[in-house]
Amino acid sequence: MQNLRDYLYIAASILFIYGLKMLSKATTARKGNLVSSVGMLIAIVATLLLADQNPNTEIQWMWIVTGAVIGSVIGAAAARLVKMTSMPEMVGLFNGFGGLASLLVGWAEYHKIATQGEGSLFTLVAIGATVLIGGVTFSGSMIAYAKLAGKMDGKPILFKGQQLVNGALLLIAVAAAVMFCMNPASTYGVFIGMVVVSMILGVLVTIPIGGADMPVVIALLNSYSGLAACAAGFVIMNNVLIVAGSLVGASGLILTSIMCRAMNRSLANVMFAGVGATVATGKTFQGEAKTVSAQDAYLMLEAASSVVFVPGYGMAVAQAQHVVKELGDLLEDNGCEVSYCVHPVAGRMPGHMNVLLAEADVPYEQLVEPQDVNPTIPNVDVAVVIGANDVVNPAAREEGTALYGMPIIDVDNAKVCIVLKRSLKAGFAGVDNPLFFAPNTRMLLGDAKASITHVVGEFKE
Ligand code: NDP
Repeated sequence: MQNLRDYLYIAASILFIYGLKMLSKATTARKGNLVSSVGMLIAIVATLLLADQNPNTEIQWMWIVTGAVIGSVIGAAAARLVKMTSMPEMVGLFNGFGGLASLLVGWAEYHKIATQGEGSLFTLVAIGATVLIGGVTFSGSMIAYAKLAGKMDGKPILFKGQQLVNGALLLIAVAAAVMFCMNPASTYGVFIGMVVVSMILGVLVTIPIGGADMPVVIALLNSYSGLAACAAGFVIMNNVLIVAGSLVGASGLILTSIMCRAMNRSLANVMFAGVGATVATGKTFQGEAKTVSAQDAYLMLEAASSVVFVPGYGMAVAQAQHVVKELGDLLEDNGCEVSYCVHPVAGRMPGHMNVLLAEADVPYEQLVEPQDVNPTIPNVDVAVVIGANDVVNPAAREEGTALYGMPIIDVDNAKVCIVLKRSLKAGFAGVDNPLFFAPNTRMLLGDAKASITHVVGEFKE
């Protein structure tokens, strides 16, 4: 039985790795998701049906079935009802619940050791790691959720001595772990204290992160949820949990590093300095914006021989991806060279714009990276910014702004830049955008889908 279970675990792990690989391309991502899910199903069935025949750990089927039914109903309803624009906060919640689940596994094992007195030092150390990382992941993800869902101000919350307080809390948590490792039976209160301290730490390390730096923290919390699961795997010595947790932890860390590069921040800065803690000087950019009608925009586009579309969060809100693709096709038929430049942090979750463009069947070959477009952008006739703001904000080049240092797409260097949004308001990071007042910028104000539909209509006429 044990052998069969291990073989099934190996099969599940292979499917996880294969699925993860497939997730790296838009064309195979859906299949990758399915492959990984099948892996997880195999892992769950193998764990339940081929569990050790130990009367102390006999499976309580009632609980398993009740939990599975409730979880499946909530998961299926959420997947159907949650709007695409709310996906980022849902991912934040999932990360948090992953951390909480690992914490509870650690707690259950600790309870067993504290009350029945059997448990090795190794298991207790693994419990300490699970509770610490799981607690930080849970409460940190709840803050990330609140910020993304607009239930909390997205600005960094800073106070004097923040790093010292965080360092002290970490030390207290580690000291508590050492205490209950040495004497688990009489330190239940210390254990609960560690749970509370870990959660406070999660809140305190996430609140100083704000505005444009949120993608980094989301990727990092994703990685933490994997590490917590991996630690929980060591607690209950479950190989497949260790493998799945390490895969999530490692891929989350790689994503964090990609996001750090996109934001031009170091990982050490993210982990120890409180990302986004740079206080903006409150510098404002103002001027006179030149607005255009959809018909004017059509005339400019009709005459263009090269166009770069730059999508941002507003495209997701407007659900404009399909009409953008239709406009792109019409431009190509008109003999224009069309490309789509996606910034790594555009939207509200990693890969957000790629998902939308793939949904609209934009060919993969037309997607270009900012570092490839920027050097040649002065030759581009029209850059069309669709609901993007922070990722094209030239204020990122100005020292003292909250966006300072973030590489942007240099649409202000194109011959003409048409910006589609509803107002002149700032983007997610709350930094005014001087692009709107640049001499070569034309603002096409209104809902992006309505505006582009109008332009498409002009083309068709
Ligand atoms: P921004 O959030 O900076 O700007 C989006 C713009 O879209 C807004 O200024 C808004 O302007 C406009 N908009 C909203 N609705 C519509 C609509 N219906 N039609 C037209 N325009 C609309 O988006 P970016 O993509 O440029 O930048 C993403 C930001 O989010 C970055 O700061 C990034 O760091 C952050 N972030 C990214 C995450 C990720 O993983 N990618 C995760 C968390 C945060 P108006 O109201 O005037 O219409």
